[in-house]
Amino acid sequence: MRKPMMAGNWKMNKTVAEATALAKEIVELTSGYTNVDRVICPTFICLSAVKEAVGNAPIGVGAQNCYWEESGAFTGEVAAAMLAGLVEYVIIGHSERRQFFGETDETVNKKIKAALAAGLTPLVCIGESLAQNEAGETQSFVSGQVRGALAGLSGEQVQSLVLAYEPIWAIGTGLAATSQQAGDICGGVVRATVRELHGDAVAEATRVLYGGSTKPGNIAEIMQQPDIDGALIGGAALDAKSYGEMVRITSEVYQK
Ligand code: PEP
Repeated sequence: MRKPMMAGNWKMNKTVAEATALAKEIVELTSGYTNVDRVICPTFICLSAVKEAVGNAPIGVGAQNCYWEESGAFTGEVAAAMLAGLVEYVIIGHSERRQFFGETDETVNKKIKAALAAGLTPLVCIGESLAQNEAGETQSFVSGQVRGALAGLSGEQVQSLVLAYEPIWAIGTGLAATSQQAGDICGGVVRATVRELHGDAVAEATRVLYGGSTKPGNIAEIMQQPDIDGALIGGAALDAKSYGEMVRITSEVYQK
Protein backbone atom coordinates (compact mmCIF):
# COMPACT_ATOMS: atom_id res chain seq x y z
CA MET A 1 0.00 0.00 0.00
CA ARG A 2 1.28 3.47 -0.87
CA LYS A 3 1.77 5.72 2.14
CA PRO A 4 -0.23 8.95 1.85
CA MET A 5 1.62 12.27 1.75
CA MET A 6 0.52 15.77 2.66
CA ALA A 7 3.06 18.17 1.19
CA GLY A 8 2.86 21.90 1.84
CA ASN A 9 4.15 24.31 -0.79
CA TRP A 10 4.64 27.56 1.06
CA LYS A 11 5.55 29.38 -2.17
CA MET A 12 7.05 32.88 -1.71
CA ASN A 13 5.53 33.39 1.72
CA LYS A 14 6.78 33.72 5.31
CA THR A 15 9.84 35.41 6.73
CA VAL A 16 12.44 33.23 8.46
CA ALA A 17 10.82 33.97 11.83
CA GLU A 18 7.32 33.24 10.55
CA ALA A 19 8.42 30.04 8.82
CA THR A 20 10.16 28.84 11.97
CA ALA A 21 7.02 29.46 14.04
CA LEU A 22 4.81 27.72 11.45
CA ALA A 23 7.11 24.69 11.32
CA LYS A 24 7.07 24.40 15.13
CA GLU A 25 3.28 24.58 15.21
CA ILE A 26 3.04 21.92 12.50
CA VAL A 27 5.36 19.62 14.45
CA GLU A 28 3.11 19.97 17.49
CA LEU A 29 -0.17 19.53 15.65
CA THR A 30 0.76 16.58 13.44
CA SER A 31 3.13 14.50 15.54
CA GLY A 32 0.56 11.76 16.23
CA TYR A 33 -0.27 11.01 12.61
CA THR A 34 2.58 8.75 11.67
CA ASN A 35 0.65 6.92 8.95
CA VAL A 36 0.88 10.10 6.82
CA ASP A 37 4.13 11.44 5.34
CA ARG A 38 4.32 15.14 6.11
CA VAL A 39 6.50 17.45 4.01
CA ILE A 40 6.86 21.22 4.21
CA CYS A 41 8.52 23.33 1.51
CA PRO A 42 9.49 26.88 2.51
CA THR A 43 11.62 29.32 0.50
CA PHE A 44 15.35 28.68 0.15
CA ILE A 45 16.30 31.21 2.81
CA CYS A 46 14.06 29.49 5.38
CA LEU A 47 15.28 25.93 4.80
CA SER A 48 17.97 25.85 7.50
CA ALA A 49 15.76 27.47 10.13
CA VAL A 50 12.81 25.23 9.31
CA LYS A 51 15.01 22.15 9.36
CA GLU A 52 16.23 23.15 12.80
CA ALA A 53 12.68 23.85 14.00
CA VAL A 54 11.58 20.41 12.81
CA GLY A 55 14.48 18.79 14.65
CA ASN A 56 14.02 15.05 15.05
CA ALA A 57 10.31 15.09 14.25
CA PRO A 58 9.44 12.87 11.28
CA ILE A 59 8.55 15.75 9.00
CA GLY A 60 10.31 16.10 5.67
CA VAL A 61 11.56 19.45 4.46
CA GLY A 62 11.75 20.34 0.79
CA ALA A 63 12.92 23.15 -1.48
CA GLN A 64 10.67 24.56 -4.17
CA ASN A 65 13.18 24.39 -7.00
CA CYS A 66 16.75 23.40 -7.83
CA TYR A 67 19.24 23.67 -10.68
CA TRP A 68 20.85 20.74 -12.48
CA GLU A 69 24.46 21.95 -12.66
CA GLU A 70 26.57 21.26 -9.58
CA SER A 71 28.18 24.71 -9.32
CA GLY A 72 29.37 27.62 -11.41
CA ALA A 73 28.23 30.84 -13.04
CA PHE A 74 24.47 30.44 -12.63
CA THR A 75 23.52 33.53 -10.65
CA GLY A 76 20.53 33.07 -8.40
CA GLU A 77 20.33 29.31 -8.76
CA VAL A 78 20.80 26.61 -6.11
CA ALA A 79 22.15 23.18 -7.12
CA ALA A 80 20.30 20.01 -6.23
CA ALA A 81 23.60 18.73 -4.86
CA MET A 82 23.74 21.73 -2.49
CA LEU A 83 20.30 20.94 -1.09
CA ALA A 84 21.20 17.36 -0.37
CA GLY A 85 22.15 16.93 3.25
CA LEU A 86 20.04 19.92 4.21
CA VAL A 87 16.62 18.73 2.97
CA GLU A 88 15.05 15.52 1.65
CA TYR A 89 12.61 16.76 -0.99
CA VAL A 90 12.43 19.24 -3.84
CA ILE A 91 9.40 20.44 -5.81
CA ILE A 92 10.19 20.40 -9.52
CA GLY A 93 8.18 21.83 -12.42
CA HIS A 94 5.48 23.63 -10.47
CA SER A 95 3.13 25.35 -12.94
CA GLU A 96 4.15 28.76 -11.60
CA ARG A 97 7.77 27.98 -12.51
CA ARG A 98 6.70 26.76 -15.95
CA GLN A 99 4.50 29.83 -16.44
CA PHE A 100 6.68 32.62 -15.00
CA PHE A 101 10.22 31.24 -15.21
CA GLY A 102 10.27 29.44 -18.52
CA GLU A 103 10.59 25.87 -17.28
CA THR A 104 9.95 23.21 -19.89
CA ASP A 105 9.60 19.44 -19.88
CA GLU A 106 13.31 19.30 -20.80
CA THR A 107 14.52 21.45 -17.92
CA VAL A 108 12.16 19.65 -15.56
CA ASN A 109 13.67 16.35 -16.68
CA LYS A 110 17.22 17.65 -16.10
CA LYS A 111 16.29 18.88 -12.62
CA ILE A 112 14.68 15.56 -11.72
CA LYS A 113 17.81 13.70 -12.79
CA ALA A 114 20.03 16.05 -10.77
CA ALA A 115 17.77 15.77 -7.72
CA LEU A 116 17.75 11.97 -7.85
CA ALA A 117 21.50 11.87 -8.33
CA ALA A 118 21.85 14.04 -5.23
CA GLY A 119 19.63 11.68 -3.20
CA LEU A 120 16.63 14.03 -3.01
CA THR A 121 13.03 12.97 -3.58
CA PRO A 122 11.52 15.08 -6.36
CA LEU A 123 7.87 16.17 -6.11
CA VAL A 124 7.16 16.55 -9.81
CA CYS A 125 4.25 18.76 -10.85
CA ILE A 126 2.17 18.35 -13.99
CA GLY A 127 -1.20 19.72 -15.00
CA GLU A 128 -3.15 21.38 -17.76
CA SER A 129 -4.36 24.96 -18.20
CA LEU A 130 -8.02 25.95 -18.31
CA ALA A 131 -7.82 26.42 -22.10
CA GLN A 132 -6.36 22.94 -22.56
CA ASN A 133 -8.98 21.50 -20.25
CA GLU A 134 -11.79 23.19 -22.16
CA ALA A 135 -10.34 22.05 -25.47
CA GLY A 136 -10.42 18.42 -24.29
CA GLU A 137 -6.62 18.20 -24.32
CA THR A 138 -6.11 17.25 -20.67
CA GLN A 139 -5.26 13.60 -21.23
CA SER A 140 -2.78 14.06 -24.06
CA PHE A 141 -1.13 17.10 -22.46
CA VAL A 142 -0.73 15.62 -18.97
CA SER A 143 0.46 12.30 -20.35
CA GLY A 144 3.00 14.18 -22.49
CA GLN A 145 4.24 16.09 -19.44
CA VAL A 146 4.67 12.84 -17.51
CA ARG A 147 6.63 11.32 -20.41
CA GLY A 148 8.80 14.44 -20.72
CA ALA A 149 9.50 14.58 -16.99
CA LEU A 150 10.36 10.90 -16.70
CA ALA A 151 12.37 10.54 -19.91
CA GLY A 152 15.45 8.38 -19.43
CA LEU A 153 14.63 7.38 -15.84
CA SER A 154 14.63 3.77 -14.69
CA GLY A 155 11.55 2.18 -13.13
CA GLU A 156 13.31 2.21 -9.79
CA GLN A 157 13.94 5.95 -10.08
CA VAL A 158 10.34 6.62 -11.11
CA GLN A 159 8.85 4.82 -8.14
CA SER A 160 11.15 6.70 -5.79
CA LEU A 161 9.76 10.09 -6.81
CA VAL A 162 6.32 11.60 -6.28
CA LEU A 163 4.08 12.94 -9.06
CA ALA A 164 1.61 15.72 -8.34
CA TYR A 165 -1.28 16.32 -10.72
CA GLU A 166 -2.17 19.99 -10.38
CA PRO A 167 -4.64 21.39 -12.91
CA ILE A 168 -3.58 25.03 -13.28
CA TRP A 169 -7.18 26.20 -13.22
CA ALA A 170 -7.56 24.76 -9.72
CA ILE A 171 -4.41 26.24 -8.18
CA GLY A 172 -5.12 29.10 -5.81
CA THR A 173 -8.56 29.66 -7.33
CA GLY A 174 -10.74 28.03 -4.70
CA LEU A 175 -12.08 25.90 -7.56
CA ALA A 176 -10.79 22.39 -6.84
CA ALA A 177 -11.33 19.62 -9.35
CA THR A 178 -14.08 17.29 -8.19
CA SER A 179 -12.67 14.27 -6.41
CA GLN A 180 -13.91 12.14 -9.31
CA GLN A 181 -12.18 14.33 -11.94
CA ALA A 182 -8.97 14.41 -9.92
CA GLY A 183 -9.05 10.66 -9.28
CA ASP A 184 -9.72 9.92 -12.94
CA ILE A 185 -6.72 11.92 -14.16
CA CYS A 186 -4.40 10.69 -11.37
CA GLY A 187 -5.30 7.09 -12.20
CA GLY A 188 -6.38 7.09 -15.82
CA VAL A 189 -3.68 9.42 -17.12
CA VAL A 190 -0.78 9.92 -14.68
CA ARG A 191 -0.52 6.39 -13.25
CA ALA A 192 -1.60 4.91 -16.59
CA THR A 193 1.31 6.68 -18.31
CA VAL A 194 3.74 5.36 -15.71
CA ARG A 195 2.26 1.90 -16.34
CA GLU A 196 2.81 2.24 -20.10
CA LEU A 197 6.40 3.31 -19.52
CA HIS A 198 7.44 0.94 -16.73
CA GLY A 199 4.74 -1.67 -16.16
CA ASP A 200 2.31 -2.50 -13.41
CA ALA A 201 4.59 -2.90 -10.41
CA VAL A 202 6.22 0.52 -10.87
CA ALA A 203 2.85 2.18 -11.55
CA GLU A 204 1.36 0.67 -8.41
CA ALA A 205 4.33 1.72 -6.29
CA THR A 206 4.51 5.34 -7.50
CA ARG A 207 2.74 7.94 -5.43
CA VAL A 208 0.46 10.38 -7.25
CA LEU A 209 -0.77 13.45 -5.38
CA TYR A 210 -3.50 15.89 -6.34
CA GLY A 211 -3.02 19.64 -5.93
CA GLY A 212 -5.39 22.55 -6.45
CA SER A 213 -7.47 24.32 -3.81
CA THR A 214 -7.42 21.44 -1.35
CA LYS A 215 -8.51 22.32 2.18
CA PRO A 216 -9.88 20.61 5.29
CA GLY A 217 -13.39 20.68 3.79
CA ASN A 218 -12.60 18.69 0.65
CA ILE A 219 -9.59 16.54 1.55
CA ALA A 220 -11.56 13.52 2.87
CA GLU A 221 -13.42 13.09 -0.40
CA ILE A 222 -10.24 13.54 -2.43
CA MET A 223 -8.31 11.05 -0.32
CA GLN A 224 -11.01 8.44 -0.80
CA GLN A 225 -10.07 8.21 -4.47
CA PRO A 226 -8.00 5.04 -4.81
CA ASP A 227 -5.51 6.59 -7.23
CA ILE A 228 -4.84 9.71 -5.16
CA ASP A 229 -2.07 9.21 -2.62
CA GLY A 230 -2.05 12.63 -1.04
CA ALA A 231 -2.06 16.33 -1.76
CA LEU A 232 0.32 19.12 -2.67
CA ILE A 233 -1.20 21.98 -0.73
CA GLY A 234 -0.63 25.69 -1.35
CA GLY A 235 -2.76 28.22 0.51
CA ALA A 236 -4.11 25.86 3.17
CA ALA A 237 -0.58 24.78 4.09
CA LEU A 238 0.27 28.30 5.29
CA ASP A 239 -1.97 27.86 8.28
CA ALA A 240 -0.86 25.23 10.80
CA LYS A 241 -4.40 24.43 11.88
CA SER A 242 -5.68 23.89 8.32
CA TYR A 243 -2.65 21.81 7.39
CA GLY A 244 -2.83 19.87 10.65
CA GLU A 245 -6.51 19.18 10.07
CA MET A 246 -5.77 17.88 6.57
CA VAL A 247 -3.13 15.54 7.98
CA ARG A 248 -5.56 14.35 10.68
CA ILE A 249 -8.35 13.70 8.17
CA THR A 250 -5.99 11.83 5.82
CA SER A 251 -4.73 9.74 8.71
CA GLU A 252 -8.33 8.83 9.54
CA VAL A 253 -9.22 7.96 5.93
CA TYR A 254 -6.21 5.63 5.79
CA GLN A 255 -7.08 3.86 9.03
CA LYS A 256 -10.27 2.54 7.50
C1 PEP B 1 0.03 24.67 -5.30
O1 PEP B 1 0.53 25.77 -5.39
O2 PEP B 1 0.72 23.68 -5.56
C2 PEP B 1 -1.36 24.57 -4.91
C3 PEP B 1 -1.98 23.42 -5.06
O3 PEP B 1 -1.96 25.70 -4.39
P1 PEP B 1 -3.43 25.79 -3.72
O4 PEP B 1 -3.58 24.66 -2.77
O5 PEP B 1 -3.42 27.12 -3.03
O6 PEP B 1 -4.42 25.73 -4.84
